[in-house]
Amino acid sequence: MPASPDDAALQQAARCKAIVDNAVEAIITMDENGIVTHVNPATTAIFGYPPGELIGSSIALLIPAPPGEELEHSIQSYLETGTDTPVISRRELSGRSTDGARIAVELTLVAIRVDGTREFTAILRDLSERKLAEDLIRQRDQQTLRTREHLARLDRLYISAEMSTGIAHELNQPLTTIALYAQACRRLIENGAGDPAVELQALDRIEKSARQAGEIIREFRGLVSRHKAGHEQVDINRLIENCPTLIEHDLLSRNISLKLELAPNLPSVHVIQVQIQQVVLYLLRNASDALASETGTGPKWIVIRSERLSDLWLRVAVRDNGPGISNALAARIFQPFFTTKKNGMGMGLAISQTIIGDHGGELRLNEDYRAGAEFYFTLPIRTA
Ligand code: ADP
Repeated sequence: MPASPDDAALQQAARCKAIVDNAVEAIITMDENGIVTHVNPATTAIFGYPPGELIGSSIALLIPAPPGEELEHSIQSYLETGTDTPVISRRELSGRSTDGARIAVELTLVAIRVDGTREFTAILRDLSERKLAEDLIRQRDQQTLRTREHLARLDRLYISAEMSTGIAHELNQPLTTIALYAQACRRLIENGAGDPAVELQALDRIEKSARQAGEIIREFRGLVSRHKAGHEQVDINRLIENCPTLIEHDLLSRNISLKLELAPNLPSVHVIQVQIQQVVLYLLRNASDALASETGTGPKWIVIRSERLSDLWLRVAVRDNGPGISNALAARIFQPFFTTKKNGMGMGLAISQTIIGDHGGELRLNEDYRAGAEFYFTLPIRTA
């Protein structure tokens, strides 16, 4: 037997009630004055008020909008214009729960006509969780920014500390030569046994070493002034070729040979030259330190290789035949302040990763290479 119109209406009402009762949004009906006439269970779940306290009260109890923006005001202006569109659509507002706490909600307010009178239904979605997630993301972004600024500050400090160490290292050799030859000259003159040819030779060495010292200072000065520079088009092979001079002394004294395998005709990259140079230096210095810790007597070597990976990327790798890096260590070496060295700061790889990341590339340890360690970084091929 087909359902009577009354039955059909009852069924429809039961369906609507089931939807309203089980909705996760608060659904509240009001009269033309914003007085609450019905609430669903989600309203109590979100705002904490029992239905009895809400029915008969103004909606302003839940949404204390600033003056001029009250819902009653919106309802009033709707009544004046009489359009059928939602009175308010998905507006973010601040609600208030029974304990006075603020709740972020999204409000949609629609008008309906029942038996010739207008009613309003407010649908309120609780945004607290979304806001919480957004806050967490914002906090994490701020934390990342702070870490970056911290790293950049340390980077500047560290670069100047590294430079002073580098200058001291490099100047040591010519200064020692100057002191030794000057001493020898003095002895020859004091003993009266001087041979002008020998003395001239010693003075020659002194002059050469003094010039070498001047050269070193000029080179470091150039590096410092370049440090202030911004991005520029750089020939990556030229940049790599200039790096070893800054740790030449270390490599020589540790008996480490350095080989450059640079791909010809690489396109230039748009980078802050001194920063990328600093990364190559960190990687070189790490490789040199790792090799110095090796007790074996075999040859010790480092290879720097440049290559074009694709139309978009260049790759630079620094490989050594030192002790390598265990899986357990590999998980930690990029963390700031992680070091296994007695006098290490543990900042080299962290700073390098930040620098390469800022240039749009990636710095990684090649975990497939097991005969030592290989670090590589990529840089985008891009002009200004
Ligand atoms: P630091 O050099 O001050 O220790 P880094 O961040 O540059 O700081 O390096 C962190 C750690 O990574 C080093 O202490 C070392 O244990 C490891 N490491 C880096 N490069 C190499 C390498 N080429 N071979 C072996 N271990 C390495």
